[in-house]
Amino acid sequence: AKKLGRNRWQFYHGAMNEETRERLRIEGALRNALERGEFVLHYQPQVDLASGRIVGMEALLRWQHPELGMVPPQRFIGLAEETGLIVPIGAWVLRTACAQAKAWNDAWAPGGLPPLRVAVNLSARQFAQPDLVPSIAQVLADTGLPAACLDLELTESLFVDDVAQAVEVLHQLKALGVALSIDDFGTGYSSFSYLRRFPIDVLKIDRSFVADIASDADEAAIVVSIIALARNLKLRVIAEGVESLAQLEFLRAHGCDEMQGYYFSRPLPAEEFERMIQSGSTL
Ligand code: C2E
Ligand code: CA
Ligand code: CA
Ligand code: CA
Repeated sequence: AKKLGRNRWQFYHGAMNEETRERLRIEGALRNALERGEFVLHYQPQVDLASGRIVGMEALLRWQHPELGMVPPQRFIGLAEETGLIVPIGAWVLRTACAQAKAWNDAWAPGGLPPLRVAVNLSARQFAQPDLVPSIAQVLADTGLPAACLDLELTESLFVDDVAQAVEVLHQLKALGVALSIDDFGTGYSSFSYLRRFPIDVLKIDRSFVADIASDADEAAIVVSIIALARNLKLRVIAEGVESLAQLEFLRAHGCDEMQGYYFSRPLPAEEFERMIQSGSTL
């Protein structure tokens, strides 16, 4: 690089340092974020299409950084994965989401409504922890949330390393009584083979398929097929990224069980989510 000239080399070198510094800065800040209580969960309702009722919520992580403001997960989950920080962060997410769901259910279930389920995203790093199953059992015991109220959202990337090991872990999780969802369904490669082998309860249709269902015949055909597949395998099916009435009507007409998306609500801070369920919001 040096023969390109001193200035050029310096420029390149300087840019590398800049990028490295930025990563180190974010990594350092991530390390402190848990202690300082900078993480928050937002909750996005999952709506039953037949009754129009909220039946659960997905917990979505946000980082309330003192200078950067509200940092979306796409900007730090990757780095948290690489550094392994996702393990303590993910443990915090699980505990916080379960405690919140338990509190909401205690407040509203006496009204005769079925308890809300909470969905939590699990990263590959978390899934590979040897104490994953006992740590989840411990969180359920500590918070008092019934296992049936917890949905674990997994992506296909979790299963590629060691399929036999993954099947074993999934069976242990099932034995706890939690539900297992495949997130972003349809975006991976091996969907059909693992559906046969893995004890899955829920398919979440990726929002890239949902986006064009009302206007594109191919996308529509894919979504109809996934719904049919789920029905035949007796799985619950949730469509994500529902933004319009046309999409909702299409999904309802084709027998999709639940939906999640901006058409109904964005992910909300806990207080706002609470106000929404208190007001008995339905479709
Ligand atoms: P995801 O699990 O697929 O979550 C759904 C994402 O779609 C969320 O983005 C949500 O805000 C967004 N979304 C919901 N409805 C709509 C809609 O109608 N239209 C559009 N365009 N988007 C919609 P978010 O919250 O930014 O999260 C992004 C990703 O970050 C998540 O994708 C998930 O992979 C990851 N993530 C979030 N929280 C956690 C966590 O606690 N742990 C782990 N490991 N990953 C997380
Ligand atoms: Ca998810
Ligand atoms: Ca998803
Ligand atoms: Ca996604």
